[in-house]
Amino acid sequence: MKYALVTGGSRGIGRAICVQLAEAGHYVIVNYTSKQDEAEKTLAMIREKGSDGEIMKFDVSNQAEVDAALNGWIEKNPDKTIEILVNNAGIRKDQLLMWMSNEEWNSVLGIGLGGFYNVTRIIIKGMLVKKWGRIVNVVSLSGLKGLPGQTNYSAAKAGVIGATKALSQEVGRRNITVNCVAPGFIKTDMTEGINEKDFKQLIPMARFGTAEEVADAVSYLASDKATYITGQVLSVNGGLYS
Ligand code: NAP
Repeated sequence: MKYALVTGGSRGIGRAICVQLAEAGHYVIVNYTSKQDEAEKTLAMIREKGSDGEIMKFDVSNQAEVDAALNGWIEKNPDKTIEILVNNAGIRKDQLLMWMSNEEWNSVLGIGLGGFYNVTRIIIKGMLVKKWGRIVNVVSLSGLKGLPGQTNYSAAKAGVIGATKALSQEVGRRNITVNCVAPGFIKTDMTEGINEKDFKQLIPMARFGTAEEVADAVSYLASDKATYITGQVLSVNGGLYS
């Protein structure tokens, strides 16, 4: 049993990751920022799997909130270490660059890329002491290929991919792996307005993916089965882009 933290664990892909980490027997800390009822639902699902966990509210883009919540937990639990970190929280605010507002640029970068920095720089310290750790960052096809209308989102995700490759080389000697999972089109609240019928002919597997299919890849990279894989990006996109 290990302690795991999943940012944006209240809904969608993050929830499916929380449930699979619970299935693997881990204690799961479910981060959320606004939807406490959804975070509590995830916690109930974790308990249904016979594991335990807790919910933890913070906005990953707000460094003061992240510091207070995570350092508070670490102070209260001096004998425990968060050994699995999944940086999953993310938002999209699509807009052509010529029309993009500062808010659309800054919020998407602040949560996607800033969130990775704010959370990981705290959690990595315990992993370095423990000489074991798994960090999995949920990025996107958009960060690999670039998608029009998503310069903000593509930049955030590509930034995390670069940071993953750099960090994996900093901490490899300490048995800490750092990898990305890059989903394509996945059925969640984030893709609610996107019509599967219009897009599925672009996808070789002719359908959107499920949150559970992404969670399968994340839980594999977070497990003892992935001891010699680091600095990688694993695409879960039905063959849309390779
Ligand atoms: P979602 O259904 O919209 O859920 C987003 C999650 O992130 C929620 O749990 C939300 O918490 C949390 N969140 C948002 N802003 C946050 C913040 N500032 N601080 C902390 N938590 C925050 O999204 P999803 O589709 O599951 O996406 C999960 C990840 O996969 C994201 O990084 C996304 O970019 C990536 N992704 C998704 C797709 C896709 O097709 N769905 C494709 C590629 C990549 P609340 O419930 O409290 O709002």
